[in-house]
Amino acid sequence: MTDLNQPALQNYAGAPVETLEIDTLIVGAGQAGVAMSEHLSKLGVPHLVLERNRIAEGWRTGRWDSLVANGPAWHDRFPGMEFEGLDPDAFAPKEQVAAYFEAYAKQFNAPIRTGVEVKKVVRNGDRPGFTVETSEGVIQANRVVSATGPFQRPIIPPIAPEDERITQIHSAQYRNPGQLPEGAVLVVGAGSSGVQIADELQRAGKQVFLSVGPHDRPPRAYRNRDFCWWLGVLGLWDAEAAQPGKEHVTIAVSGARGGHTVDFRGLAHQGITLVGLTKAFKDGVVTFQTDLADNLARGDENYLSLLDAADAYIARNGLDLPEEPEARRTFPEPACVTNPILELDLVEAGVTSIIWATGYAVDFSWLQVNAFDAKGKPQHQRGVSSEPGVYFVGLPWLSRRGSTFIWGVWHDAKHIADHIATQRKYLDYRDASQRQAQD
Ligand SMILES: Cc1cc2nc3c(=O)[nH]c(=O)nc-3n(C[C@H](O)[C@H](O)[C@H](O)COP(=O)(O)OP(=O)(O)OC[C@H]3O[C@@H](n4cnc5c(N)ncnc54)[C@H](O)[C@@H]3O)c2cc1C
Repeated sequence: MTDLNQPALQNYAGAPVETLEIDTLIVGAGQAGVAMSEHLSKLGVPHLVLERNRIAEGWRTGRWDSLVANGPAWHDRFPGMEFEGLDPDAFAPKEQVAAYFEAYAKQFNAPIRTGVEVKKVVRNGDRPGFTVETSEGVIQANRVVSATGPFQRPIIPPIAPEDERITQIHSAQYRNPGQLPEGAVLVVGAGSSGVQIADELQRAGKQVFLSVGPHDRPPRAYRNRDFCWWLGVLGLWDAEAAQPGKEHVTIAVSGARGGHTVDFRGLAHQGITLVGLTKAFKDGVVTFQTDLADNLARGDENYLSLLDAADAYIARNGLDLPEEPEARRTFPEPACVTNPILELDLVEAGVTSIIWATGYAVDFSWLQVNAFDAKGKPQHQRGVSSEPGVYFVGLPWLSRRGSTFIWGVWHDAKHIADHIATQRKYLDYRDASQRQAQD
């Protein structure tokens, strides 16, 4: 058996899984797992990362072909390394993001085993720690950190029609316009994925209907600063919870084509037909809510509130950043907003595909411990769960708005690693009689 507390971290990566007893097991080697491993390595905590696919698999195969990071390279990275060969203000293509995390993990020799799936974790009844069933054998672990991602199971809402004439995919399965049959497309959901996919399809010559719900849409940049910078200096990345009533509000941003502000009226003038929230499908007809103009108006409010806050910040701090009055100009209201489509016969409109850009859920069926509430939601405080020894990292709003983002997960992982190291110190404590007996 491999010694539980031996400090040669990298040995775990090479050892056969079925012989392992380890201190801390990290499940998943996306950005969250890599960040956890870095912090545990720095603190000398023996650990192993198990990844069922490859490092940063989500960025390799879980995204469409043309995706680039939504934040600029200076921002969407870990503190310990820059993107090689990329202008700091550019947006890294998804392959480069995956390569970045792979190189980052190599940099500190992260003990990562790829191609091993964790199938079940249960707390031991007769001794401390957890029994972990994997695709390559059983491991004993004192602690388990779930870094399995915020976006695991694509969600298609139950209103999706059963209609074999229509090709239906989730945004997680979308790759490029060539994948879809001839004909128009309905994109349901106008967060960052939905708007970017709708824009790409329309530019490829497709007729596109885009179903727009409540959203925030910060300016891509304002007065020479990217919105990532503004959210940082204004403390908005650090917000601890979504504002009441805004829990289901998505954020629409884009780094595509060098980065630009998502402007729904601009998309409409470009040729995309905007519709409200998708309500129902019946007999080949889709109906939409009457909320399109309201959703756009609330998106505008959010946009303008950020400009106002930025102006106030510049004035208060005496910054010399150029004024940008054109940022407050809006496109005229397009016909699809003033006279909204409330129902659409899919065949008559030539719609042959629907892309559901409707988000994701988590899946913790493998983690069979007492760390969930009655609804199956992880119960934790900044990632330290209600089951001693079990941790979550990378979940939405784990500690703040930034928790699922590249830069934010690194800070959450640091907190969790500190907690683990502190617990280990308590367990190392020996009282006077024990110390004497040792001497
Ligand atoms: C389309 C899209 C674009 C995004 N763009 C950005 C962006 O530009 N900037 C930004 O900061 N954030 C972005 N995000 C958000 C976030 O950065 C990504 O979702 C990121 O992949 C999350 O990293 P993670 O490590 O938490 O999870 P993941 O990347 O999902 O990694 C989890 C890993 O766990 C593995 N795993 C899961 N279950 C098991 C198991 N049982 N056993 C072993 N391994 C397992 C998976 O294979 C996976 O590799 C984007 C998200 C999406 C969906």
